Amino acid sequence: MPDRALDAQAFSETIRLRHAEARHRIVADITTILLDYVGPDEVEPLRRIVEKVTAALGDWCAFSLVGDDGILRQVAAYHPDVRQRELAVLVNQLVPPRQWDAGPEATNVLVQRRPLVFEEISDEMLRAGLPSDEAFAAMKEIGLASAILAPLLDGQKPLGTVILASAGRGGRRYTRDDVDFVVAIADRAALAVRNARLVQKLAEERDRLDRARAQAEERAAQMLAVFQADPNGIALFDANGVLRFVSPRVAELFGTNLEGFLGKHHDEAFRVDLRGDGNNEELMLQMRSIFADREHPSTDEFLVRKTNRWIRRSSTPVRSESGAYLGRMFVYMDVTAEKQLDRERSEFLTVAAHELRTPLTPLSMYLQGIERRLARGLPIEPELVVKARRQVGRLSRLVEDLLDVSRLESGRLTLSRDRVALDQIVSEVVSDFRAAAPQHEIVLRRPTRGVQAMGDRERLEQVVVNLVQNAIKYSPQGGRVEVSVERNGSQARVTVTDEGIGIPKDEQRHIFERFFRAQNATTRNYGGLGIGLYVSNEIVERHGGAFEVVSEPGKGTTFGFTIPLDESEPALEPGRARILVVDDDRAMLDATSSVLRDWGYAVDEAGDGETALRLLRAAKPDLMLVDLMMPVMDGWALVVRMRQDGLAEAVPLVVFSADSEANAHAKDLNAAAALRKPFSLDELQSVLGRLLPGTPPS
Ligand code: ADP
Repeated sequence: MPDRALDAQAFSETIRLRHAEARHRIVADITTILLDYVGPDEVEPLRRIVEKVTAALGDWCAFSLVGDDGILRQVAAYHPDVRQRELAVLVNQLVPPRQWDAGPEATNVLVQRRPLVFEEISDEMLRAGLPSDEAFAAMKEIGLASAILAPLLDGQKPLGTVILASAGRGGRRYTRDDVDFVVAIADRAALAVRNARLVQKLAEERDRLDRARAQAEERAAQMLAVFQADPNGIALFDANGVLRFVSPRVAELFGTNLEGFLGKHHDEAFRVDLRGDGNNEELMLQMRSIFADREHPSTDEFLVRKTNRWIRRSSTPVRSESGAYLGRMFVYMDVTAEKQLDRERSEFLTVAAHELRTPLTPLSMYLQGIERRLARGLPIEPELVVKARRQVGRLSRLVEDLLDVSRLESGRLTLSRDRVALDQIVSEVVSDFRAAAPQHEIVLRRPTRGVQAMGDRERLEQVVVNLVQNAIKYSPQGGRVEVSVERNGSQARVTVTDEGIGIPKDEQRHIFERFFRAQNATTRNYGGLGIGLYVSNEIVERHGGAFEVVSEPGKGTTFGFTIPLDESEPALEPGRARILVVDDDRAMLDATSSVLRDWGYAVDEAGDGETALRLLRAAKPDLMLVDLMMPVMDGWALVVRMRQDGLAEAVPLVVFSADSEANAHAKDLNAAAALRKPFSLDELQSVLGRLLPGTPPS
C-alpha cells in the first residue's frame, strides 16, 4: 500500500513542519521578550523564557547559572504539572549543586561545550548522575523520558545550562531535530544573561562614579572650609594664572575687598596697588616671574601700608597625582609680631652694648692711668683703684641683671625662704642711697613694729634698691624721694615716691615688660636696659605679691609692692616708742636714727621742716629731736608751726644745736631738753631715759 505509506510520510512531514514552525514562533517570541527586558536582573529573562517554553510545549524547561564561586545552581525551572514541580524541588534538595565541571565529562555540556541529546533516559544513566536512592526514587517518579541539554556560553566562558526535558507517560522523545531549537534558546538566554550583567556593571560603574564625585565634592568643600578658617590668608590660581579662590583673611591682611578679583588673571588682579606703596608695577612683574616658574616655591615679605602689617607670602606650584600642573597656591602669613621682635632684639643689643661700654670706657681709662704710673715708677693713688673698682662693680651689676633675665626665662631663678625684716632691708637701702645721692632728700617711713615676711632677703633688697635707684635716676632735678614700709592687713607694703619725670599713662601698663623702656627714658638718654622692673616684678610675684604704679608725667611716680606678712610673726613688742628726728645734715640724721633704732626705738626721719610737718600729721611720735639750725624752715619756725597747727601737743621736744646757747634756746621754745652738738651717746641716752621713762633703751 504505497499510497498509505506515502500518506503517512506526508503526514509525518507535515507534523514535523508544524513542529518546526511552532518552535520558530517560540524562538521569535523569546527574542521579543528579551528585547523587551533591559535590566540588571540576569534571572528575570530566563524566568520569562521558561514560562514561554513550558506554556508552549508542556515540557520541563530549566536554567542553571554558574556563580562567582564556580558552582552551577538552578535559577529558573518550571513544569505545568504541580506534582512534577514538587518532585523537582525535592530532587533539588537531595542533589547538592556542584562545580560546573564536576561529574562525568561525557555528559557535561559545559565541559563538552556542545548540546547533548538524551533520546532515552535509562535507569543506569539516572543512577550514575544521582547521589542517593531517595533522589533516584524522586527522579524515577518524575519519569524523565528524553532530554536535551545545551550550554550557555560567553565565548569560551561557561555561563550556565538549559535543559528541555519531557517526562511522564507519553513524554516525547527528542531527536537531533530538536537540538537546533534548544541551541537557539540557549544562545538567546546566554545573550540575555550577558546583557543583564553588562547593565549591572554599568549601573555599578555609574554608582561608583557618583560616589567618587560626591566624595570629591565633599573633599573640596572641606578643603575650602579649612582654607577659609586658616589664620593665614590663602589664594589659589589655576594653571592659566586666574584667581579661583581667595580666603577672607587675605582681604583682612590687605585691608581691601577682594571679591571682584575672583576669575581674574593675576596680571589684571595685581594692577591694583594692594601694598599701598605705589610699586604695583613691580608687584605685577614679580607675580609674572613667580607664575613663569612652574617648578619652585617662592617666598617674599612686604609691608602693607594700609593695614600696617608685615606679610610673608609663600607660594607653591600645585600638581595633580599624575603630576599635571594645576596652578599655584599662595599663603599669606602675618609676621608683624615677628618683625617687631626682631627689631626689639636688635635695639636691645644696641642698648646693651652701649650700657656695657659706659663703665668699660672709664675703667679702661683708669687702668691706662695706673699702667702709665707703673711705667714711670710713680706711686698709684688709691683713689684711682677705688674708681676703677666702682666701674667693675657697675659692670658686674649689668651682667648680673642680664643673667637674671636669662635665669627667669629658663626657670633657674630660685628664691630662698627665710624670715626677713622688710623694714630693716628698706632702712638699710635708704641709708646707702642717702650717702650716694646728695641732691635728693630721701625720707624713710616705717612703723614702730617690725615688718616681717618670708622670702629671699637678697632678692627683696634688689627690688627696693631698684625702685630707689629709679626714683633717683628719673628725678634728675633732685627733690624728695619718700620710701615707706608699712603693714596693710595681711600684707607688707613698700612704696617709693619721687617727684621726677613720671611715666605717660599709655606706657604704664608695659612698664614691667622685659626690655621695655618708656619714651621719657629713651628720648632723654637715660641709660638702662629695661630689665630692673621686669626682674623686680617677677621676684615680687614669686613671693606671692604684686606691684602697682601711679604716675603723672612731670609730677612724679609712686611704685609700690606688697608681699604677704609672715603669719608666724610674734606678738607686738610692748612699749616701743616712736621718735621723730629732724635734721638737715644728712650724716647726722643717719647716724642719730641708726643709733636710736639700735636701741629699739621706731624712728621717722625728716631732712627739713616741711617733711617733719607731714610726718607729724601722719603719725604722732612719742618724742621729737629737732635741729634748730636748718635752712628754709629752721627749727624755730618748725616748732612754731607745729604748735600753731596743734600737731605736737604733749610730745616732749628735744632741741639740739651747735651753738653754746642751746639750753637758752630750749627754754625759749619750751623744750623738754637740749643737746649741744657734738653730744655723746651717754648724754642722748640719759635725756631719752628721762623723757621716755617706760621705755629704757637697751
Ligand atoms: P631701666 O631703668 O634700666 O630702663 P627699668 O626696668 O628699671 O629699666 O625701668 C623700665 C622703664 O620704666 C624705664 O626705662 C623708665 O622709662 C621707666 N621708669 C622706671 N622707674 C621710673 C620712675 N621712677 N620714673 C619715671 N620712669 C620710670
